[in-house]
Amino acid sequence: MKPESLMMSYGYKPELSQGAIKTPIFQTSTFVFQTAEEGKAFFEVAYGLREKGDQEEMGLIYSRLNNPDLEILENRLTLWDKAEDCAVFESGMAAISTVLLECLKPGDLLLYSSPIYGGTDFFIKNVLTKYGINVLGFKTNQTKEEIKALIENSGFADKLALIHIETPANPTNALIDISMCKEIAKEFSSEESEVLLAVDNTYMGPLWSHPLAHGADFVLYSATKYIGGHSDVIAGACLGSKELMTRIKGLRTFLGNMTSPWTGWLLMRSLETLKVRMEAQALNAEKVALFLKNHEKVEKVYYLGFIPKEDTLNYTIYQKQYESAGAMISFDIKGGEKEAFKFLNKLKLIKLAVSLGSTESLAQHPATMTHIDVSVEDKKANSITEKLVRLSIGVENSDDLIWDIEQALASV
Ligand SMILES: *Cc1c(COP(=O)(O)O)cnc(C)c1O
Repeated sequence: MKPESLMMSYGYKPELSQGAIKTPIFQTSTFVFQTAEEGKAFFEVAYGLREKGDQEEMGLIYSRLNNPDLEILENRLTLWDKAEDCAVFESGMAAISTVLLECLKPGDLLLYSSPIYGGTDFFIKNVLTKYGINVLGFKTNQTKEEIKALIENSGFADKLALIHIETPANPTNALIDISMCKEIAKEFSSEESEVLLAVDNTYMGPLWSHPLAHGADFVLYSATKYIGGHSDVIAGACLGSKELMTRIKGLRTFLGNMTSPWTGWLLMRSLETLKVRMEAQALNAEKVALFLKNHEKVEKVYYLGFIPKEDTLNYTIYQKQYESAGAMISFDIKGGEKEAFKFLNKLKLIKLAVSLGSTESLAQHPATMTHIDVSVEDKKANSITEKLVRLSIGVENSDDLIWDIEQALASV
């Protein structure tokens, strides 16, 4: 069956919870063992001292290790990306930083795409480097040969351990070829050490893009965005093979950055409507993008649905990796910061806030808000100018959204 059919029931047995149709919130720190032998058996499996038997289920021990709300949520999340396993975290940053810490050690080289989410950028440049990890950024429009030359010229080519990318990239929907990155990872792998590839798929969400199918080893989400979808929870997720996720869950146990049962429960509730929400958002986004494209006060629209066929490189990546143009739109307003701010201040229905992927539409100014910390040079290279406005389109009526944008543009 398709994931949307299973989001209400997968992985949950009502008979274990008094017949409740919904998974209860298991607001408990610890779980009672029936016997001391059972407790011993659970711990042996949890600490990897022996393999789990065929009929044996992972026993519940303590909510930092496992909890039904987290496990059922993780099982449901695997369905969208056809992943073997999943780990949920208290934030997207917790998922990302845990993967980076698990895959890198002092002396290693991390290759990452730039620009990247501000929190990730800060963690890479200020935290990883503190532990002696070498970091190297590449730009979304660089070719395979250019990226390989960058790695070779870094002096740490034999230390490359992880490639971390974000595609579509925030805020202009710039694309990166995931399978090309996997080829690079393979070419720099040796028998002793495999270079792994992590893809932050937050900007597109789990419905229309499946990085694992293109060779990624990890797919990462800020579940705060489309997965949560209601601007009321901060959470994250990481998906991949059983083997890799065992490592990630191991570090999560000791960092203690797993989600709480309540957050897990909220995300399960959100997952039931993930597909209908995202489809409505993408339909609205298409209408809004078309309206913006034809407006005299708009200079340029950055929307995946508008990649021209002649731009063969990006058009090919788009066709290969994405089944929808998504619900994120950026546009250049004619003028600069003054005009952009005027527009933002005049919006009535669309809220002036960062974040994305939610039921309500949001607008913000990347150059002075989400991307304020990006260097002047990188801002320029990535079209993050004073005239750029970013929109996350929600589930409102598209006529109302267009009315709001039209009246705000009229005031500029
Ligand atoms: C929001 C976001 C994150 C961070 O997620 P949090 O849940 O805020 O920690 C990471 N990557 C991308 C692309 C994001 O948009």
